[in-house]
Amino acid sequence: MSVNKDVFQQRNTNTDFQSHGLKDWDAHSRTPETLIPTHCSFCGVQCGMYLKVRQGQVIGVEPRNYAHNRGSLCPKGVVAYQQANHPDRLRYPLIRRGGKGSPLERATWDEALDYIVSRWQDLQGQYGKDAIAIYSGSSMTNEKCYAMGKFARAVLGTRHVDYNGRLCMSSAAVAYAKAFGIDRSPIPMTDIPNADCLVAVGVNMSECFPVMMQWVWRARDRGASLIVLDPRETPLARTADLWLPVRSGTDMVVLNTMLNLLIQDGMIDEEYIRERTVGWEQVRETVAKYTPEEAQRISGVPAERIITAARMYGRAATSLIMHARGIEHSSHGVNTCLACTNLALARGQVGKLGGGTMMVTGQGNGQGGREMGQKANQLPGYRHIDVDEDRRFIAQVWGIPVEEMPWEGAAATEMIHLMAKGDIKSCMIACSNLMVSLPDNQTVRRALQQLDPLIVVDFFMSETAELADVVLPAAVWCEDEGTTTNLEGRVVKINKAVEPLGESKADWEILVELAKRMGKERIFSYRSARDIWNDLRKATKGGAADYSGMSWEKIDEEQGMFWPCPDEGHPGTPRLFTERFGHPDGKARFIAVEYQPPAEEPGEDFPFRLTTGRVVYHYLSGNQTRRLGFLNAQAPEPWVEIHPQAAAKPGIQNHDRVRITSPRGSMELQALVVPTIRPDTLFVPYHYGHAEAINQLTNPAVDPTVKIPEYKACAARIERIDAPEKEGGTGYTVNYNPENMPAMFPYAVGETGNKKIKE
Ligand code: SF4
Repeated sequence: MSVNKDVFQQRNTNTDFQSHGLKDWDAHSRTPETLIPTHCSFCGVQCGMYLKVRQGQVIGVEPRNYAHNRGSLCPKGVVAYQQANHPDRLRYPLIRRGGKGSPLERATWDEALDYIVSRWQDLQGQYGKDAIAIYSGSSMTNEKCYAMGKFARAVLGTRHVDYNGRLCMSSAAVAYAKAFGIDRSPIPMTDIPNADCLVAVGVNMSECFPVMMQWVWRARDRGASLIVLDPRETPLARTADLWLPVRSGTDMVVLNTMLNLLIQDGMIDEEYIRERTVGWEQVRETVAKYTPEEAQRISGVPAERIITAARMYGRAATSLIMHARGIEHSSHGVNTCLACTNLALARGQVGKLGGGTMMVTGQGNGQGGREMGQKANQLPGYRHIDVDEDRRFIAQVWGIPVEEMPWEGAAATEMIHLMAKGDIKSCMIACSNLMVSLPDNQTVRRALQQLDPLIVVDFFMSETAELADVVLPAAVWCEDEGTTTNLEGRVVKINKAVEPLGESKADWEILVELAKRMGKERIFSYRSARDIWNDLRKATKGGAADYSGMSWEKIDEEQGMFWPCPDEGHPGTPRLFTERFGHPDGKARFIAVEYQPPAEEPGEDFPFRLTTGRVVYHYLSGNQTRRLGFLNAQAPEPWVEIHPQAAAKPGIQNHDRVRITSPRGSMELQALVVPTIRPDTLFVPYHYGHAEAINQLTNPAVDPTVKIPEYKACAARIERIDAPEKEGGTGYTVNYNPENMPAMFPYAVGETGNKKIKE
C-alpha cells in the first residue's frame, strides 16, 4: 500500500502534549472563555462533561455533575478533548487518482463526491442497487445513525446497511427482545445501589466502565454481595466476595447449573413465574441435568463455588445480573444472555427496583445506534424491516413508495463475504475500523481490497482508511450536535463546542451532499442536526423505542430522558417492565437454552484458549485513544497475559517476546506473566492495528442468530521467540484435566484474595 506522507502524518507519532497545539501550561492560555456542557465521546456510560473553549479551540475539560456520572470522569474522558485539534486529524478529502496502488492525494470535496456518485451510478446501473453497501458505526449521534440508515435505504435503495454494533452487544439485544419483548436494560444504573446481590458476568467494569463503578460501590457499602464470572481475576473480581474463574465460552453451563440449584433449594418465585411469564416448564426440565460436578468439568469452576454462588444469589431479596462482551462475543452469545434472563425471571427480579438484568453496552451510542434503523433488519424505533405495517409507516415518513423500501440485507460480518465474492462492489464505511475490529483480518483485507471504490469517512487515518480509494474527513463529536442514548437507555444531548477542523464535515452533511448529487434532495435535504432529530422523532413514533415526545430542551432540563416517550407531556420511562413486558400478552418468555462449546476448542497443536478484551486506557479499535499521549503512554502496545504455571514449562518470563499462533495466523508480542488468569487461557487486548492486531488470530465463527463473532474463545499456542523448536509441536502442553483445575488455582473457596464469602 502506498501512502503519501505529505498528506497525513504517521500514526501513533503525535502523542506528546506540545504536538496538540498546546503550549507548556500557563494559567492565561488555559483559561476558558466558554464552558460547553456535553458528554464524553467514548463508552456507553456517556459521562457528562464541560468542554473548555478558548479562541475557537477546545483547550480542556471539566467534569459535569450529571445524573449518572455525578462529576466523575475516567482517564479516557479526561483527554477526549485532545482529539479536536490533534495534528493527525484528516483535514481534507483524499483520493487515489491513479487507482489501486497509487498514493492518496488531496482532493476537493466536489471532486471526491462527484467521483463517488458517478461510480455508484455506474455500478448500480450494471449490477443493481445492492451492489453498494453502507457499513456504519455506533459511536455517532442518533441523528447520524438515523441519517445513515435512511441514506442507504431511501437514497441508495440498497438493502445492505449494517453497523459495528453487530460486533458489540447485538447478542444481548436479541436475547432481551426474545425474553422481554424490548431490547433495553430494564433499569438505570442509578438503581444499582438497591440490589442486595450483584452478579457480574463477563464484564470488566472497573476497566471498561470505570465511572459506573460508583453505583456498584454504593450497593457494596449497603452490604450487597458481589459474584464475578470471568476467566481473569479482573480488578472487579479482586473486590468480589466470590470469583468464579470460568473457562471462556462456558458461562452458560454455570448459569444453568445455578438455576437448577435454585429450583432444588426452593428459591424460585413461583407466583411471579405464574403471573408474569410463560415457558417455565421447558426451562425447568432443561436445566435439571446441569449438576455442579458436570459444570465444573466443563467450565473449570470448582463445584463448591457454583453452589455458593447459587445460594448467595438465591438468598438475596433483590439481585441484579450485569453482563457484557465476555458472554456476548460468542458463537452462542444469544443463548448465554438468555441463561441470564432465565435466572433473573426465575427469581422474580425483572421489573423490580434494582433487580433483574442489565446489559452493559460498550460503544458510546451502542443503544441508540441500534434503534435508529441502521441495522440490517431494523427500521427506526425498533421497527422490523419485514413487517408490512412498519415498512409502510417508515416509507410514508421518508416520502418514498413502500415498494421501494429494501428488505433485510447482510449483517456486517456477512458483508465481508459478499465483498470477497464480488456481490458488493463498493462500500462506504463510517466511524468503523474493520481492519482492527473484525476477526480473521487477513480475510477482511482481501475483501476490502476488492471494492472499487472503498470509501472511508473518519477523522483519523485508521487502518481501514489506509486501504480506501476515497477518504472523507469527518468532524469529531464536539464539532457537531445531536443526541446519544447511553447504556441505560438515557438520551443525552451532545453540544457543539467548536467549528469542524479544516475542511472536515459532519457525517450527515456528507450524506446530504451525496444525496443532492444523486437527485434525492427532496427526501434528504437536512440543514442541521436538529432537522434530522425532528425527522427521527416522527419515524420512531409508535415504535418500541419511541423518541417522539422528547425535545432537546427537555433532555437538558431532565438530565437525560428515557424512551419510550410517546408525547410531549410524557416523563419518559427509566424503568421498564414494572407492570408488563414488551410482548403482546405482557408476559416475559423463559427460553430453554442448552450449553454448546465454542466453535473452536483447544487441542494438541493449539492447547490454549485465547480470549480478547479491553483495557482502561483504550477505546474499541484504538484509532482515537492510541493517539492521545497519556493513554498511549500507559498502553502503547499489546501484550499477552499468561499464568505462571503455564509460562513455566516453555520458560516464559515477564516481558519476554513471545509468538502466539492460532489456526489463522501468528503474531509476536510481549508476555505478561500474571496469577490472575486461568492457566489454560491467554488474554490479549484488542485495541491495536497491523502486526499488533489480535484479530489476525481470532475465529470468524458467528452466532447463528445475530452473526456476532466469537472474539472471546479460539484455540492458540504460545512460544518464546528464542525458544528452540521441538519436534511434534510446541514441546509442552497445559494440563487442563478439569478435575485438576481447582488445585491449579492459588485460591480456594472463601479465599478469593478478597473478602470471606458470606455463607
Ligand atoms: Fe467517557 Fe466512559 Fe470514561 Fe465516562 S466512563 S469518561 S463515558 S470513557
